[in-house]
Amino acid sequence: MDLDLLLMTPGPVNIDTEVLLAGAQKLKHHRTTDFAPIYADCVSILKRMFKTEHHLFLTTSSGTGAMETAIANHFNPGDEILTVETGAFGERFTQIAKAFRLKVIPLKYPWGHRAKPEDIEKALDKNPNIKGVTVTFNETSTGVCNDLKPIGELLKKRNILFITDGVSGIGALPFEMDAWHVDVAISASQKGFLSPPGVGMIALSEKAFAKMQSIECHGYYFDLKYYKKNQDLVIPSYPWTPAISVMFSLHLALQKIEKMGIEVFHAHFHKLAEGLRTALKQIGLSIFTQPNALSDVLTVINSPEGIHPSKIVQEIRNSYGVLIAGGQGEITDKVFRITTIGAIGEREIISTVGLLEIALTKLGFIKDVGKGSTALLKYFCNHS
Ligand code: PMP
Repeated sequence: MDLDLLLMTPGPVNIDTEVLLAGAQKLKHHRTTDFAPIYADCVSILKRMFKTEHHLFLTTSSGTGAMETAIANHFNPGDEILTVETGAFGERFTQIAKAFRLKVIPLKYPWGHRAKPEDIEKALDKNPNIKGVTVTFNETSTGVCNDLKPIGELLKKRNILFITDGVSGIGALPFEMDAWHVDVAISASQKGFLSPPGVGMIALSEKAFAKMQSIECHGYYFDLKYYKKNQDLVIPSYPWTPAISVMFSLHLALQKIEKMGIEVFHAHFHKLAEGLRTALKQIGLSIFTQPNALSDVLTVINSPEGIHPSKIVQEIRNSYGVLIAGGQGEITDKVFRITTIGAIGEREIISTVGLLEIALTKLGFIKDVGKGSTALLKYFCNHS
């Protein structure tokens, strides 16, 4: 039987059909008053969700394009930057900064651990010319959620630009750009905003905005000066041809999230994540991520001894039509990942846990099937 594939991966995530269909409507021209309110409303709603009063631009790209935009618009070749690496996406910022010929000082953590402000402080003392620091908010490769607030306070005192990659975190998790003193915050449509991929987001504090204006951008397509100029037109627009259809979907998804209430949205994902972790414990599976760094976006699970994670992923995908994710980078052979964000609810978590139990029974790890599912059902009954 051909089953509709359910995405339980940490991006792209499972999306509401109505949101998908919004992208299938007849095109509007991006330089007309037909499209301008959609574009402008996406920007306004996103500013409320990033919790910023300042600047926000959309890019026609995935999250990596928005990361590149941050570097290209804020640094000159030879500038020093500290890249905090708590996993594969922290490393990506190192690579992007190197591609732009910056002098990069990586601060590397063992995978699964969160960044510590005191280590950042030490690195800044040792390298007094550092002009910017990048930190991943939610590290999708390790399941680590970094605590940005104390880092923001530290960087504000030193007048250093604070850049955060919120590609999988913003939208899905509580985030306070202005209150946490984040200068450049990046995200993308396909994760916490429950939309198809294709739109990147970059928000700037006044400090970052002034710096962007004073620097010659190293590139053309992502030069934010063009984005600002077009956003300020009588008919607000985008400098190039945007991903119009994706923006239709994004607009509807944002309206739905706002209608639900962003705090309710976050609480929903928290419940799903806690339910999943309750079940995993009863199944006898351990979590890769350090307990003080857990995230509601995804849970990274150690594969049982002797079972390669790809076997579990394939079994659940091929037999039951649910796609969970394998590991990334140095932990590819060790872990698998299950998301708890997207247009999903208890139904999807219950199915995923049940199917995981069946797969692990077939693979010989579970002898007494149902312990995880029972714990999950009880958890949801007690938290309805
Ligand atoms: N940063 C993080 C934390 C991510 O999870 C991802 C996507 N997995 C990216 C950056 C890159 O985003 P994209 O694939 O949209 O370019």
